[in-house]
Amino acid sequence: VIEFTDVEKRFGDNVVLKDLNFSVARGERVTLIGPSGSGKTTILRLVMTLEELTGGYIHIDGEPLTHEQRGGKRVPVSKKQQKKLRTRIGMVFQQFNLFPNMTVLENIIEAPVHVLGQSKQEAVQKAKSLLEQVGLPDKADAHPTSLSGGQQQRVAIARALAMDPEILLLDEVTSALDPEVVGDVLNILREVADTTNVTMLIVTHEMGFARDVSHKVMMFDGGRVVEEGHPETIFTAPEHERTQKFLGAVL
Ligand code: ATP
Repeated sequence: VIEFTDVEKRFGDNVVLKDLNFSVARGERVTLIGPSGSGKTTILRLVMTLEELTGGYIHIDGEPLTHEQRGGKRVPVSKKQQKKLRTRIGMVFQQFNLFPNMTVLENIIEAPVHVLGQSKQEAVQKAKSLLEQVGLPDKADAHPTSLSGGQQQRVAIARALAMDPEILLLDEVTSALDPEVVGDVLNILREVADTTNVTMLIVTHEMGFARDVSHKVMMFDGGRVVEEGHPETIFTAPEHERTQKFLGAVL
């Protein structure tokens, strides 16, 4: 469902990702691990089209997300095509990124109504059931600033799920949270993993969570994949010295 072909990302002269080739199958949950600065967040931001792809191709369900090869040339796809594909992708950020001037309910229904064209009534109904699912049924009319970090992140998860995404990108979603609420947020995501077939690309420092929910773990260093495999193998018997050192430091 997601395919990276010869992906390169540079910021000025800084080459952050190079010759990256991998794919994620439908329903697969893949966790990216690796030291700070190894390019993990950049990969998610590229899929969300929040960063410009400087080389190579990303395909979603076989359709080019940013550029396509035409007549031997790499040409950008139309904004319309990009927008269409992006509606199938949801992202939850480290810093929640809720709209501060809207209520919780307004945050959740904004995209379903304005991007998918759902009726307000339908969107509100779905939003309420999602708020129930994330354990915040009584916060619909609250403003994000009145909520704790853990509550805001639960709203952000509900907002992402409101779009019924085919692909969910989770970027260090618990890194900004107080330790005592991390477990609640991870449990909500575990349940999403258990009860849906949504494809997930996950960046996290929570290795227990990564081990529980992922089908595959990819270890990055210096913008390249050092090692990849089943979480059981990567966490208990990593082959590469770089992975051993990294896990030795974080586990
Ligand atoms: P972390 O765990 O710290 O978030 P990461 O593996 O997710 O690390 P990225 O955030 O993807 O790493 O960053 C990879 C590299 O890209 C870093 O060297 C960073 O400085 C650089 N980088 C990221 N965003 C930008 C930007 N907007 N402008 C310039 N350089 C950037």
